[in-house]
Amino acid sequence: MRTIDRIYIDGAFVTPHGSEEFALFNPATEERIGTVRLGDAKDVALAVAAAKRVFPAMARTTKAERIAMLLRLRDAVQARTDDLAAAMREEYGAPAYFTGFSVRNTASIFEVMAASVENYAFERMAGSSAVTMLPLGVVGAITPWNSNFGFIATKLAHAIGSGSTIVIKPAEQSAIQTQVLLECLHAAGLPKGVLNVVNGTGPEVGAALTTHPDVALVSFTGSTPAARIIQRAAIDTMKRTVLELGGKSPTIILDDADLDTAIPVALMSGFANSGQACVAGSRILVPRARREDILARLKQEAENLKVGPAGDPDVRIGPLANAAHWERVQSWIRIGLEEGATLLTGGEGRPEGLDKGWFARPTIFADVTNTMRIAREEIFGPVLSVIPYDDDEDAVAIANDSDFGLQAYVLSADGERALRVARQLVAGRVVINGAPHDPHAPFGGFRQSGLGREIGAYGLDAYLEPRAILKPAA
Ligand code: ADP
Repeated sequence: MRTIDRIYIDGAFVTPHGSEEFALFNPATEERIGTVRLGDAKDVALAVAAAKRVFPAMARTTKAERIAMLLRLRDAVQARTDDLAAAMREEYGAPAYFTGFSVRNTASIFEVMAASVENYAFERMAGSSAVTMLPLGVVGAITPWNSNFGFIATKLAHAIGSGSTIVIKPAEQSAIQTQVLLECLHAAGLPKGVLNVVNGTGPEVGAALTTHPDVALVSFTGSTPAARIIQRAAIDTMKRTVLELGGKSPTIILDDADLDTAIPVALMSGFANSGQACVAGSRILVPRARREDILARLKQEAENLKVGPAGDPDVRIGPLANAAHWERVQSWIRIGLEEGATLLTGGEGRPEGLDKGWFARPTIFADVTNTMRIAREEIFGPVLSVIPYDDDEDAVAIANDSDFGLQAYVLSADGERALRVARQLVAGRVVINGAPHDPHAPFGGFRQSGLGREIGAYGLDAYLEPRAILKPAA
């Protein structure tokens, strides 16, 4: 049993003023594995005050100083990759492939930001005016549980890269992972107050952060409903917001696709992170003429995917994060059936052979229309919808007919044709033929998938604003 009873303010692990406790579980066994003591609004006030005190000094740091901090953070994460992976396995239960990616990616985020700072033009000319890109002040960051390390690292990297300071409220159910990561970040020896972390709930600590008058920018990753509350709260003090939200990403299988390669890619895009991914390709768009073949292959391949606990290297789909989420995903499967979709594989309940743990059955619905709720709303679990289309134009229209626009996938034997389709899609990222993760690509979404972009110069742009100095001619 782990007890997490400290938060991180002004460079030190301190006991929070808040005293409420929150239970932590292993989702693969449903066993209680720890307790976190939650902070409250007073802790947020102390953390914001610490971040505010050091902001002027941080804003003055040079590129070289910021890069040095970022590379120290990278090294500190790399020094404890085994501990980070172990915490993620136990508390989140992600399959080994995803845990390995997450830990490597966390270190790489700091390195990529160091390169972005190197290349970023903080000083520019506009006409005869000298323009300086200035940091905004204290950043309030709120992160979700589905990729705890990566989101904390992303927001911290942007704060440091831009010369800001930050107070982070991570998801309370990821407290063990946060603790191990924080120990790494602490070891990097940032100036006191640059990084502050307050564990707590969304309505208490999250709300205190997003309404605090000294927070200049809110960087949020999470659900669209929570973002609406945050966006409203930001208005009173004109906080800037960067919001990375939900998705209902289309995977378009074009009619020339080689199904031996396309089907596994479509399934892994849909079931990525056990379906608990904002970028999950949860709508699979299939050419009507090849529908039967594709459905048969999707069913067969999905039934071959191993579901189970994180320790087994062959596992591709792990448990859902908590009991309430498992129930929510079950209710989505019922909604699909009630809407008249055909259950191709999966369904309610646990997979065979798993009688405990929050494991859901990898589920695929066929005969889905793009107007059904299972095609329009984010489920955030291993539940995919197959939607037939007539031709490329129809596929693009269905793909773009969504409230979201975070990510899209195109699969084709012809790279040029895939590119032509990709160029018509309204999505923050379009992935062609299972292209690997690019840590330099901007990330964020159109429409209700968010506001602004993270990563690289695009991410820095969101954390900085121009000040122009106009002088009379000499
Ligand atoms: P999920 O359902 O996946 O947990 P949420 O959007 O509810 O997605 O949670 C993402 C993060 O947002 C978490 O850290 C959560 O505590 C926080 N959060 C939830 N509601 C609010 C809110 N009203 N204000 C600020 N933060 C919130």
